[in-house]
Amino acid sequence: MLEAVHDTAEYSLPSRLAQLIVSPAVCCVKASSKGLQKSLWNLGGTTQYSVPCNARDAFDLEDETDMQEQIAQIKQDFLQALEKVENLSTLEELRIGVLGKKGSLTSLLRGMGAVAPELRPQVGQWINQAREELENRIAQREEMLQDGALQKQLLLETIDVTEPRPLPRIGVQHPNTMVLNEVLDCFVGLGFEVVEGPEIELDYYNFELLNIPKNHPARDAQDTFYISDNAVLRTHTSPVQARVMTTRKPPIRVVCPGRVFRADEVDATHSPVFHQIEGLVIDRHSSMGDLRGTLDAFAKRLYGEDITTRFRPSFFPFTEPSAEVDLTCFNCRGSGCRVCKGTGWIEVLGSGMVNPKVLDMCGIDSNEYSGFAFGIGLERITMLRYGIPDMRLMYEGDERFLRQFR
Ligand SMILES: [Zn+2]
Repeated sequence: MLEAVHDTAEYSLPSRLAQLIVSPAVCCVKASSKGLQKSLWNLGGTTQYSVPCNARDAFDLEDETDMQEQIAQIKQDFLQALEKVENLSTLEELRIGVLGKKGSLTSLLRGMGAVAPELRPQVGQWINQAREELENRIAQREEMLQDGALQKQLLLETIDVTEPRPLPRIGVQHPNTMVLNEVLDCFVGLGFEVVEGPEIELDYYNFELLNIPKNHPARDAQDTFYISDNAVLRTHTSPVQARVMTTRKPPIRVVCPGRVFRADEVDATHSPVFHQIEGLVIDRHSSMGDLRGTLDAFAKRLYGEDITTRFRPSFFPFTEPSAEVDLTCFNCRGSGCRVCKGTGWIEVLGSGMVNPKVLDMCGIDSNEYSGFAFGIGLERITMLRYGIPDMRLMYEGDERFLRQFR
């Protein structure tokens, strides 16, 4: 539309006003050079136009100063805004507002078409210089903000490794559990298998199969809690052995730990609930010598190489012959002290050769096989081991007591 300007237009430029006659349409524009520029732009997107020399000269001066002013203004506004930027996102907004596609400086560059051709390199250079300068300032500010953010984060996440903290409360194993694990470790090392059974047991396994029939006086000593006529809270862990003997073929080598129950009054050495660890070995030719060797190894492992065993004759319906087993006092190592009441020995467990009658009742041929068994009271060896004077301490759950085993 405007290409014909130089052909047909007549220019008279009294100071800052221009009048343009545009062909074929006639368009009158009254404006400052800035306004004229705008008007020309408004007339067509990719307008090509030229103006006569005298007019151009007049425009040139205006354009040049105007551009410089605009660039300076943009820079000034930018730098003022930059001072106030406190975070990276605001900085990015500012950058887009000036250097982005629609930013103020970019728009100036786009408007270069309105600048006289011979001035364009100069104006372009100014804009680019300004752009470069602003980009540098943005980069500096960005670095500062990032550093600041990092410092802030470091400060927030600082851990003073030298600051004393209260120790976390760590639970400890009950002394019974510690000794039990030690005993089981010892027997597992000797080739025993750990087997467990029910705490509510049939009379048949708890008494009958162990040679304790209904009228047997041993039932009085093991008075217990009856669930029904046929079911009791087990009085020992021997029924586990009975269950093993009725279901497995020899050789058998098991150790049976567990909770047992008796109708005892609570005192310093008795409780209606306590723990046993019983052992059973059945094989061809197993003898009292094997029993003693096994218990010797157990005693030495638990209390030291200088500990030995002493067997005293006793009676248990389950075994024949039977023996109470004493260990060298591990407190005085045999010389006599308060713990062993001056004897140098401590009674620790009961044992014996499995009664052949029991073997037969459980379906094991007593002519072919023999076996030995032993029963250890866990509480007793725990109390002896740690010098615990009263059995009740182990069940009261008092932390002051338990903490001592840390
Ligand atoms: Zn002693």
